[in-house]
Amino acid sequence: MLTAHSFQNRSGSMSQPTTMKITTQRDLIREVAARWRQQYEPFRDDRPIFSIRNGYRQPIKKKEIAEMLDAIDAETATPADIAAIIGNESWTRLTCHECGKDTDAVLTVGQEPDYESHTACLCAPCVKRAASIPWRENQ
Ligand SMILES: [Zn+2]
Repeated sequence: MLTAHSFQNRSGSMSQPTTMKITTQRDLIREVAARWRQQYEPFRDDRPIFSIRNGYRQPIKKKEIAEMLDAIDAETATPADIAAIIGNESWTRLTCHECGKDTDAVLTVGQEPDYESHTACLCAPCVKRAASIPWRENQ
């Protein structure tokens, strides 16, 4: 499933088609701090996030999470590292819309991803399967 905050684009027009592109989990990790800030800045005095799962004994605020995300090494951090900070895996999850499997890279086709865009993410095996389907004119 394409999660809205995984591919945020507030500036793009929904009617503009995109060039097909590959998105990897590394791309998402490189952009996660900026996407978090885009989602939540300016940081209000919001309720702290409390997560047993990520081991926070004290509730943590979104601004503190932003600072932790700023501090990661985006070239070596793993999706698990990001999930440990945020408390869930949705910010680095890539799921194929055809087979439904989670994958580390997808081909994105269609409109620029946004909340209501017509966008599909396909894993490599599904792209290869699609390319192997016989295509005839006037069928
Ligand atoms: Zn697939």
